[in-house]
Order: sequence, then structure tokens, then C-alpha cells
Amino acid sequence: MPEHTRVLIIGSGPAGLTAAIYSARAQLNPIVIEGEPSSTTDQPGGQLMLTTEIENFPGFPESITGPELMANMRAQAERFGADLRVTKVQKLDTRERPFRAWLTDDQEPSITADAVILATGAQSLMMNVPGEERLLSHGLSTCATCDGFFFRGQDIAVIGGGDSAVEEATFLTRFASSVTIVHRRDALRASKIMQERAFANEKIKFAWNTQVVEVLGEDRVSGLLVRDTVSDEQRVLDVTGVFVAIGHVPNTTLVSDQVELEENGYVRTGLGSYTNIDGLFAAGDVQDHIYRQAITSAGSGCIAAIDAERWLEARGF
Ligand code: NAP
Repeated sequence: MPEHTRVLIIGSGPAGLTAAIYSARAQLNPIVIEGEPSSTTDQPGGQLMLTTEIENFPGFPESITGPELMANMRAQAERFGADLRVTKVQKLDTRERPFRAWLTDDQEPSITADAVILATGAQSLMMNVPGEERLLSHGLSTCATCDGFFFRGQDIAVIGGGDSAVEEATFLTRFASSVTIVHRRDALRASKIMQERAFANEKIKFAWNTQVVEVLGEDRVSGLLVRDTVSDEQRVLDVTGVFVAIGHVPNTTLVSDQVELEENGYVRTGLGSYTNIDGLFAAGDVQDHIYRQAITSAGSGCIAAIDAERWLEARGF
């Protein structure tokens, strides 16, 4: 027989764990499926596990590391009785009530749940070149808002040609001596107004038709080996920081055939965390492609827990 829970939370980033803290304090005894490590960029605890210093999460004036912050949130959720499990949901069925979740390949579902909070997050797309995985968090970052401050006075590169790349490059000029946008084509995809702002910024340089071949450095980024896609020549860009801004993908595999998604693939939420499926709530980066901060994600987890609690109460679960 599957075990039954009133609230199943899928995901253990700031959204999932904040939802867990709130649901546990509301006596809902949530089960939290944290995920399990499958690669350096896919970890329980989400994207913050890949972040070193966090200086903008309120309440930590001296900063805190991503893994420490997640460990604190986990301990806080457990203290109030959340049942945290390091495993993955293989399949979720929201077509029948109660919802059914499989943690194994068995025919029989492992868990049934009255309400589900989906907090599976998003992943930065990566270049998949040598050195990238090793130097992630050691001079290579996927978030300028999070890490820009650490690159004061340095020459750095931003990879990509979309709005994210241009926005991040512009933001990074507050700290860096120079920012080179490395783009694989000869024209940006970013909106005109952002392009113009970047072209007018003296600190921003452009490496057009340029593909990254390798991120160089032993234990910190020391340069970028790049290839000119027209001449095929290779050269080394002298940078000590690299920001990868080639897009994000929300982790929606569990629900993409069931729930309404935005055109860009993110889960569509209406008021608060409500999805189009009654009893399925979504929180954090799986439904937010705009703000994507630890604190907004935590806030969104809080909203989902309150929405789920009120929904359960109104339905008499
Ligand atoms: P995006 O628009 O999909 O752009 C991704 C960029 O990365 C493209 O220039 C693409 O090159 C390049 N790229 C993709 N894969 C690559 C690879 N393997 N190696 C090298 N380059 C690669 O993604 P985004 O910039 O994250 O934006 C996503 C959405 O959010 C967009 O709709 C954007 O308008 C929106 N957004 C808006 C704002 C804003 O308005 N403030 C800020 C950020 C994002 P190609 O051009 O050759 O395809």
C-alpha cells in the first residue's frame, strides 16, 4: 500500500524547504522528496549548492555559503517534523485524486498525496566544454547578481548573446575592469534597447563569432580558450572570471504533460502558487523565469505552503 500524506513537496531548494518549514509548522507533516545527486549541476538543495558566498540573503550580515544556508533550512524543516528523503520522484500522476507519486519503477505508487507543491527548480544551461564543471564556483558562475561582487577590478567574460548575457554583462561593469561578451554569432539576440546600452558602455567589449573551447585554470579560472568560427583560429582570452548566460531550463519533466506551461516552458501559476490543476501548487524557479533569487524563491515556497494549507482546509482534507 502506498503511504499517504496531505502535502508532498518535490524539491529541496529554498522554495521546497521554505514550503516544508511552513507546512510542518502548520501540522501538515509534509513529505519532502529532496532529489539525489546525479551530476555536479544537479544536486539536492538546488542551485544554491553550487554557490559559494551568498551576501544578499537577508539575515546574514557576514554572508553565508550556499550549502550552509541549505543545511540550515533543512535542519529548520526537520525540527518542525518535515520528513525529508534523499531520493527522486520518478513519476507523478495528478490526473487522479489523491495524486500519486512513484519513487521506484514499481507499478504501485510509493506515495499518495492530497496536495503537491512542485519546487523542482531550474538549471542553467551549460556549455559542456572542458574545465567548466571543475571551475564552477571557482571563477565560473551562472549568476551575476549572486557573484558579481567577487570580481571587483578583474577582466571577465560573459558567454551568450541573449538578454541574460547583455543584462549580466551590463550589471557586471559595476565591479569588473572590463567585460567581454563572447558570442558564437555576429549579432546579438538581446532586445535592441539592451544592446544599445551595452554598445554604449565603455567597459563592455565583444568577441563576435567566438566559441568557447575550454575554460582554463587549475583551481581558479585563469583564461578562456576560444575559437573564431570564421577563421577557425584559436586564442586565449585573458580573463579571471566567466559568467555563463546561455539560458535556463525549468525542471518540469514530471508534470509537462499534465500542467499548463508558459510559452517558455515554465509552469504557469495564477494567483499565488495555484496551477491549473486543483491541488497542485508550484513555487520557485520552476515557475519564475524573471527574478530567480534565493530570497524570491523562499518567499514563493512560503506562498505555496499557505495556499496548500488553505486549499486543504477548504476541501476538508
Ligand atoms: P536566450 O534568449 O535563449 O539566449 C541564449 C543565448 O545564448 C543566445 O544568444 C544563444 O546563441 C546563446 N547560446 C545558447 N546555447 C549556447 C551554447 N551552447 N554556446 C554558446 N552560446 C549559446 O536566453 P536568455 O538570454 O537567458 O533569455 C531567456 C528569456 O528571458 C528571453 O525571452 C529573454 O528575452 C528573457 N530575458 C529578459 C530579460 C529582460 O528583459 N531584462 C533579461 C533576461 C532574460 P544564439 O543567439 O546563436 O542562439
